[in-house]
Amino acid sequence: MAIGLFGCVCGQFHSPASGMGMAGEGRVKAPVPFYVIEHPDGVALFDCGLPTAMADPEDSYLRQLRSQDLDVTFGPQDTVTSHLERLDIDPARVRYVVLSHLHFDHAGGLHQVPNATLVVQRREWEAGFDRDLSRRYFLPTRFFDLGHPVKLVDGEHDLFGDGRVVCIPSFGHTPGHQSVRIRSALGDHILVADACYNAEVAQARRFPDYSDPAAMNASLDRLLALREAQTVMVFGHDPGQWGEAPILPAARA
Ligand SMILES: [Zn+2]
Repeated sequence: MAIGLFGCVCGQFHSPASGMGMAGEGRVKAPVPFYVIEHPDGVALFDCGLPTAMADPEDSYLRQLRSQDLDVTFGPQDTVTSHLERLDIDPARVRYVVLSHLHFDHAGGLHQVPNATLVVQRREWEAGFDRDLSRRYFLPTRFFDLGHPVKLVDGEHDLFGDGRVVCIPSFGHTPGHQSVRIRSALGDHILVADACYNAEVAQARRFPDYSDPAAMNASLDRLLALREAQTVMVFGHDPGQWGEAPILPAARA
């Protein structure tokens, strides 16, 4: 049985171009995607978008972001719950959430999928509970420490044991960042997440200040080397991949 892959946009960032590793002085709008994977053995998400509280302009974390020149627009139709309902998937049925990393825009929506097991690189999860690392890399526990069962993995991990959904470590953006390779009816996709924000960064290699640039370069080189002739790289926050013609379908054909 084929597996399904859907790309959902859970709000938008508004930031200086440099904040997204892009050239120019202006501001850019960049999507916050997450992904729905329908496998015969269960539904998995790759990342989980923003917390629903961010739809409230007075949300405390949102105010903190604004003080750092980053803003978010996020409506009720953008939540994980709304996207799953549109796909006719009960959020309670989500079996796994593979987290690329623990940033608020990737783990923040976890409160909407109470029965999921989180699949996280061990070193990422440990960093989230380490006082110094969690500060340096912005990993507040309020977004991910909600009592879900957690499966900690070390390095590559084949989620369903059939080679179709494989976690690939891509450390550097945060201590235990991971990407995932999906082999679906749509072809081969590597969901890069924040190992590379967009296609421009893949060339220019401009990474966030807090990240480990040597590790990010090595991870990105490894991910790019995994490409086969038909592989599509889906970057973490790439406006060019989620505009008028999104790179992945968001709804059933
Ligand atoms: Zn991030």
